[in-house]
Amino acid sequence: MPGLFLSHNAELRCPDMHCDLHMHSTASDGTDAPSALAAIARSINVSAIALTDHDTTEGLPACAAACAELGIDFVPGIELSCDPHAKGLRPPRDTIQSDRKLGTLHILGFFVDPGNARLLDIHHRILRARLERNPQIIRNLQGLGVEIEYDEVLALAAGSGTKIVGRPHIAQVLVKKGYARSAQDAFAKYIGEGRPAYCRRDTLTPSEAIEAIHDAGGLASLAHPIQLRYADDAELEFIMERLRDAGLDAVEVRHCDHTPPLVEQYTQLAQRLGLLVSGGSDYHGSRKSVAMGSSRVPRDVFETLRERHTRFSGR
Ligand SMILES: [Zn+2]
Ligand SMILES: [Zn+2]
Repeated sequence: MPGLFLSHNAELRCPDMHCDLHMHSTASDGTDAPSALAAIARSINVSAIALTDHDTTEGLPACAAACAELGIDFVPGIELSCDPHAKGLRPPRDTIQSDRKLGTLHILGFFVDPGNARLLDIHHRILRARLERNPQIIRNLQGLGVEIEYDEVLALAAGSGTKIVGRPHIAQVLVKKGYARSAQDAFAKYIGEGRPAYCRRDTLTPSEAIEAIHDAGGLASLAHPIQLRYADDAELEFIMERLRDAGLDAVEVRHCDHTPPLVEQYTQLAQRLGLLVSGGSDYHGSRKSVAMGSSRVPRDVFETLRERHTRFSGR
């Protein structure tokens, strides 16, 4: 079969060298159908893939079937969004500025059961939270006498081209209508944590995510650590230790956002903490410029995780 997929790139000619354990389909925010991913992997000689859609396992059966047909090893996965400032996760700091970039904490699950009740429950909980939170903030603002409609926020968000509507858009409307001098001012006066129009977001804690992934029979890996926006290496290590203590199995070392020095740093950190490594492109189809397979993750990474999973499920 490899002869059918000749490439001018010598590295790509070897069918068994690489895997890609992080990608998205139309089941979340990717542009390729789950069933289309296997053929792309095959065409670039990536021999194992994990589909890791945001907060859903919906695409897994179709992707698994396509992979089986083309002889690609398939890892049923998920990527769960967690609270990047969960209690106790970061070292205590004196001040938290309202304009501090919050960071992102995503946990990948590998080898999960797509029909696991706890994962499905999380999926519904997150959908509900997304749908309910913004309108609630608007109602809170209206209750304070602010003349604002949710449609104004939606229109502004649509104009900015983003798919996810959030507080920054609400802040912009408040500025535009003269209720605040700046976005920071809008957060400080109305919509920041603890302010009168604030509405708590129902987010998963990292521990809940790790437990749910384990409950679904999977292994948990911290996705793209760089996106945590840690203040320094000490904070990164602090966070990683908390996650390891919560049961984390691995760290995503290779990722499109990681420079070679970061890959090296995260690899060493994983080793020091006794964690496995994972890696992937975070391919989203044509929505982003990152190509499948571009993180050049050695197939060994997949083999090691599979081996650990086999032992884990035998427990
Ligand atoms: Zn992510
Ligand atoms: Zn992702």
